[in-house]
Amino acid sequence: ETVVNKIAAGEIIVRPANAVKEMLENSLDAGATEISITVKNGGLGMIQIQDNGCGIKKEDLGIVCERFTTSKIDHFEDLTSLTTFGFRGEALASISYIARVKIIARTADSVCAFQMEYGLGRPLGPEKPCAGNMGTIIMVDDFFYNNPTRRMILNAPSEEYIRIQEVVTKYAMRFAHVGFSLKKHGEHVADIRTPSKSTTLDNCKIFFGNSVARELLSIEGLNEKYQCQVQGYVTNANFSLKKYTFLLFINGRAVDCSKLKKCVELLYAVHLPKHSFPFVYLSLELPPGLIDVNVHPTKAEVRFRFEEEIIAFIYETIEQRILTSQE
Ligand code: ADP
Ligand code: MG
Repeated sequence: ETVVNKIAAGEIIVRPANAVKEMLENSLDAGATEISITVKNGGLGMIQIQDNGCGIKKEDLGIVCERFTTSKIDHFEDLTSLTTFGFRGEALASISYIARVKIIARTADSVCAFQMEYGLGRPLGPEKPCAGNMGTIIMVDDFFYNNPTRRMILNAPSEEYIRIQEVVTKYAMRFAHVGFSLKKHGEHVADIRTPSKSTTLDNCKIFFGNSVARELLSIEGLNEKYQCQVQGYVTNANFSLKKYTFLLFINGRAVDCSKLKKCVELLYAVHLPKHSFPFVYLSLELPPGLIDVNVHPTKAEVRFRFEEEIIAFIYETIEQRILTSQE
């Protein structure tokens, strides 16, 4: 069982940035308004994520790293109407199979925090009372300490750190009301810092610069037939970048959809000179029933029903916006 779990875990959590994404989503699900991440050695040495969300109850600390333990689903039917990021309770379990995990958490009704350490999905001892603010701190040490092959295929820490930066940037764009910070262990200056109660456009200035932010057109559209809503920011057709930036969220989750990405690129190819690219940030809301739940939730590439129709709708919404901005 342990071997199977270890293999499964290594497929879900392939690199430190995957762990960061899962933990960020948990913090957001917990209602956090401040999330601070500290990383050592590109996440291979340590990832620490602290949030001011609802925390974890003392009596739940023992089971959060067990596979299929989730507080986010009560009935199996809920699978078709999910609104939170998590639902399979596999993320923390997987992380605890490939790294050493320690959690410190405090709920609103508790006078102190409790801490617990985990290995291979199980607590390594009883929870211990300790000092701590309301919310949760999760420390992940020694990534792939028990799997040298997996560790070997990872890139240099500096490159793994860049992937973590990309994940934090994406979520800070989408959840601009939440304050994010990301720093390297031992450094005083954060590499990413966004204020809470910010807007996507404000954070766009922080991450991509004023030169991009002032060229953005805001996108908004609703397709009644498929109950699909799109919202976002895209550069206009008189402005181009050397690199294609495409940030996509579906129901609040950062995902990849190579078909949609390609279609939007082709749309801009009509308007932009050769070798120049747009900046595209899109946030879609789809009825959860349209999203294919058989694709593993931690896989970035997403599948949904009526893909062609929905992609066409997004294409047309962006094209219309570009055309009206040129009038
Ligand atoms: P899922 O998100 O699919 O429920 P996870 O393995 O990601 O599964 O998390 C397991 C459980 O641990 C969650 O359902 C939640 O109850 C708890 N949890 C994890 N991280 C946090 C956090 N930052 N704050 C509060 N609860 C958390
Ligand atoms: Mg989760």
